[in-house]
Amino acid sequence: MKKTFLLALAIFFMQNLSAQTKTTYILCGKLIDTKSGKIATEKTIVVKENKIVGVKDGYIMPKGGNLIDLRDKVVMPGLIDMHVHIEKEYDKKTRINKYTLNEADVAFNSVKFAELTLKNGFTTVRDLGGSGVNISLRNAINAGDIPGPRVFTAGKSLATTGGHADPTNGSSRVLIGDPGPKEGVVNSVEDAKKAVRQRYKNGADCIKITATGGVLSVAKSGDNPQFTIEEIKAICETAKDYGMHVAAHAHGDEGMQRAIIGGVKTIEHGTYMSDETMELMKKHDAYLVPTITAGKEVAEKATIKGFYPDIVVPKALAVGPQIQGTFARAYKKGVGIAFGTDAGVFKHGVNGKEFGFMVEAGMPAMETIQSATITNAKLLKMESEIGQIKKGFFADIIAVDEDPTKNISTMENVVFVMKNGIIYKQ
Ligand SMILES: [Zn+2]
Repeated sequence: MKKTFLLALAIFFMQNLSAQTKTTYILCGKLIDTKSGKIATEKTIVVKENKIVGVKDGYIMPKGGNLIDLRDKVVMPGLIDMHVHIEKEYDKKTRINKYTLNEADVAFNSVKFAELTLKNGFTTVRDLGGSGVNISLRNAINAGDIPGPRVFTAGKSLATTGGHADPTNGSSRVLIGDPGPKEGVVNSVEDAKKAVRQRYKNGADCIKITATGGVLSVAKSGDNPQFTIEEIKAICETAKDYGMHVAAHAHGDEGMQRAIIGGVKTIEHGTYMSDETMELMKKHDAYLVPTITAGKEVAEKATIKGFYPDIVVPKALAVGPQIQGTFARAYKKGVGIAFGTDAGVFKHGVNGKEFGFMVEAGMPAMETIQSATITNAKLLKMESEIGQIKKGFFADIIAVDEDPTKNISTMENVVFVMKNGIIYKQ
């Protein structure tokens, strides 16, 4: 009796083990090599557990493996968005939500946004600021408890008092308080160091600062410089000690220059970037994260009466339409471009629209895909693990119906998603 039970148990475990370790063969009609920028035809990707173990010529269909037939699709590595806010989606209620939602409400919302993002082909994202729930979300995704992209998160953004990411901005004086480095508000070099160390302690992967005013904060200026160069330097140097890079939200030119000289790696939006600043970006090997989709969104929503607070409307109308043109100039000048959308300012899941806007502004389709794969993988120090379909890399693989170099809008309709060897959409 006991023997039979043990035997049954052994068979059960062996069957499960073989199901897990079964090799998967993905037949690809077309396969994008993000490194060379070329499209190969008739390839088979071999996946075992969470890794790519080979990329073979022709269609290989051995018996006993799992077979995924993408012979009429265009296959590429999972996409990387360097600028999302996975915890929320801006709408009319956003301002009041700050006072009515509990952390648990934010957490439950973020679960659906993470799944939407993943199912639209973005297998990795950098979250540039939320309440800190984004850190728990990353952990839950990594543990395999909920579906979502790989998340690299800044936790809560750093601002100065009254700055773009001061969490009490626009509140009544009763509620305004005096937030400090722990809450992400700094006003000195010492505060700057503490705020970075606090983010590290909280579990952040990178640091985000709001180097200038912003569109959606309840404040007058959308582009004034909001940190001293000493504060930015202190942030970047401290972040470096902890292996973290720094991203800076910036619309105004002066704030951007301080950020670049201070050691920031990516400039988000870059709206009023001068030619001089573009040269500075190249000199310091800093990258522009365009967020054209967000620019279009705020310009459009600003025309709906009451959608944004009155103080936001003129900023949205001025900044929004400018972003795509600045991106076009920066690309032409040879500034490094890191694909990023600012999803959360608009609906999660439509991040793929950014590709079309980049192509419209003069960047060839293949380069937009390279920006969203190899460039971003490098910035996240993951260039040996994600961003390419290559032996030894994580099995982050997606597919679209058409050749994106012929029709870029196909990037808005991802039909197959595998992340870490697990299929999320087929
Ligand atoms: Zn943002």
